[in-house]
Amino acid sequence: MAADMLVVQELNKTFSTPSGTVIALDRIGLQVKQGELITIIGPSGCGKSTLLKIVAGLDTDYEGSVRLNGKQIDGPSIEKGFIFQEPRLFPWLTVEKNIAGNLSLKKPDIREKVTELIELVRLTGFEKAYPRELSGGMAQRVAIARALLRNPDVLLLDEPFGALDAFTRSHMQEVLLDIWQKNRTTMLFVTHDLDEAVFLGNRVVMMNPRPGHIRKVLTIDLPYPRKRASQSFQELRHHVLKEFEKVEEPAIDHGAGI
Ligand code: ADP
Ligand code: MG
Repeated sequence: MAADMLVVQELNKTFSTPSGTVIALDRIGLQVKQGELITIIGPSGCGKSTLLKIVAGLDTDYEGSVRLNGKQIDGPSIEKGFIFQEPRLFPWLTVEKNIAGNLSLKKPDIREKVTELIELVRLTGFEKAYPRELSGGMAQRVAIARALLRNPDVLLLDEPFGALDAFTRSHMQEVLLDIWQKNRTTMLFVTHDLDEAVFLGNRVVMMNPRPGHIRKVLTIDLPYPRKRASQSFQELRHHVLKEFEKVEEPAIDHGAGI
C-alpha cells in the first residue's frame, strides 16, 4: 500500500470581511495516497478553491496541519502543479514554448520531455501553434502539459473543464484519465459536476457549505474506463446525488409559544 503523500488534519480557514468573519473551511481532514485521483465536489461557496489554494501553497494563512511528503505546506513550490479553469497561457508564445516556460528547448532532455508530453495530451502537430489558434480544450491540454513537465508530486485542478462544452469536456476527461493511468500523478480534481466526479475519481470527497466541511468520502471502485450508461455507474451517481439532497437544515429558531 502506498504511503500517504498528502495529509490534511484539523484544517480551519477563516476570512475577515467587512460584514464579519467567514468560516471557509471547518476542521477539514483528508489523507491522500501517492497516485490517487481524488475528486472534490460540492456547491459553490463550500470551500473547494480555498482548500486547493492552501494545498498549492498559494494561501498560507490557515490553522491546522497540511503536509505534503511530511513537510508542512508554507508556500508554492515545484512539487505542486495547479490548473485553473482558464488555461492562462502566454499568447505570444507557441505551444511548445508555453509548455517549456523558462526551461530551454535547446536542451535535448527538455526537448524530448516536451515532445513526449505533447503526444500525451494529444497535440502532436500543434507544437508551433499559438494559443489563439487553439480551441478551449486544446489550450487546457497545453496547461496540463506545462504543469506535468515540472513532475509535480501532486496536480491540483480547480474546475479545469468547467468552461468547456459537454463534448469537449467528456473528451478531456478521457485524456486526463489516460494521463493519470500512464503517469500515476497524484491529483486533486475540483468539480461541481456530479457525473465528472464519479467518472474520474478513485474517491469522491463531498463538501457542503456554511461552514465549508467534508460531508462524506465515497470510494468508487468501478474499473476504468467507466461506462456512464452502466447500472453500477448510475447507482453510484444516484448515491452521491441523494447524499447532497439530504440538506442539512440549519437549526431554525421559531421563537417561543408557537
Ligand atoms: P468554492 O470554490 O467551493 O466555490 P471558495 O473556496 O471560493 O468556494 O469560497 C469558500 C467561502 O469562502 C465562500 O463563502 C467565499 O465567499 C469565501 N471566500 C473565498 N475567498 C475569499 C476572500 N478572499 N475573502 C473573503 N471571503 C472569501
Ligand atoms: Mg471555486
